[in-house]
Amino acid sequence: MQGRHFLQIPGPSPVPDRILRAMAMPVIDHRSAEFAELGKAVLEGSKTVFKTTQPVVIYPSSGTGAWEAAIVNTLSPGDTVLMAETGHFATLWRQIAVKFGIEVEFIPGDWRRGADPAAIGERLAADKAHRIKAVMVVHNETSTGATSRVAAIRQAIDDAGHPALFMVDTISSLASVDYRHDEWRVDVTVSGSQKGLMLPPGLGFNAVSEKALAASRSNSMPRSYWDWAEMLKINANGFFPYTPATNLLYGLKEAIVMLQEEGLEEVFARHQRLAAACRAAVKAWGLEVLCEEPSEQSPVLTGVLMPDGHDADRFRKIALENYNISLGSGLGKVAGKVFRIGHLGECNALTLLGALSGVEMALADAGVPHRAGGVAAAMASLQGNGGPKVAAVA
Ligand SMILES: *Cc1c(COP(=O)(O)O)cnc(C)c1O
Repeated sequence: MQGRHFLQIPGPSPVPDRILRAMAMPVIDHRSAEFAELGKAVLEGSKTVFKTTQPVVIYPSSGTGAWEAAIVNTLSPGDTVLMAETGHFATLWRQIAVKFGIEVEFIPGDWRRGADPAAIGERLAADKAHRIKAVMVVHNETSTGATSRVAAIRQAIDDAGHPALFMVDTISSLASVDYRHDEWRVDVTVSGSQKGLMLPPGLGFNAVSEKALAASRSNSMPRSYWDWAEMLKINANGFFPYTPATNLLYGLKEAIVMLQEEGLEEVFARHQRLAAACRAAVKAWGLEVLCEEPSEQSPVLTGVLMPDGHDADRFRKIALENYNISLGSGLGKVAGKVFRIGHLGECNALTLLGALSGVEMALADAGVPHRAGGVAAAMASLQGNGGPKVAAVA
């Protein structure tokens, strides 16, 4: 097909040309002084994105590796942790913990909300013996499009006077949704490169607090590749204990510059504007947004429920074949029932409107009952929502 493919899945997200060009470099000696400069720049620069002054560990891994790293560096087999069933990704993180012999208390959820701070607070308050070693939540549940209120969960932990570690998956929220590792006193923030950071897949992150480091010095879980201690020792000079993903680090350096140029607050505001416009389109089509709670609807993606009797994957296939657009599938228990529109990273008003046009046409092509006018509703939302910098003269 002619023209650019519309990669509108909620990660991996499209990589800006600037980042692709920054990565088109010869591979250098990862023990050289030239590399150390790059290493120091990305290790320091990453801190600004996590909003932390504490160490950020960068692995050559997908987000799943960074999930595992958070567990094996802080917990011991037999430990109990508290998690919230926000959707498919929370379920997967839980499975990893279980494989490492962790006892997981999983607060049930219906996949239409973020994690409930009150339920977490209640469970912690009842845990007088402090058996729960960590609270682990997914900030932006990419399978549903619901964002958990991390600051409120921090407050609930504090109100319960509970010493549990706080670990947050920001794989699809970092650099798209307001996030503050230090201010919210998160102990391990897990992230990945291929979503809000606008990089190809292949980097995993752990931002690590003093308290998490202390836990890592006394926990008994065996680990080698993921071990923070060796990594941090060598990172101090800008190096890595094993061969790093050098060219992805060139990309990361450029991504951090781009985020700083736009300003993180504007990045977050742009994601909010695009998400509001996307939801306006869904509403105008007469379809339902999967996340029920308006204050938790994700700035990163919108999960859309298919009308009964209509298969989301058939619809996505028609959209791809007719308009060259990839939409996210329903994952886990919402497979076939939901499709997801990503509006993160390298995305602006016209990218979104193009994507929504593809969705609206494909809804008609697939015979999915809907009203026309979603794209027009999104345009109205973008124009009324602080969108245009230059307003028309009255
Ligand atoms: C994408 C994603 C993951 C998995 O990351 P991989 O890079 O695919 O291993 C985990 N959690 C969330 C919230 C995600 O969006």
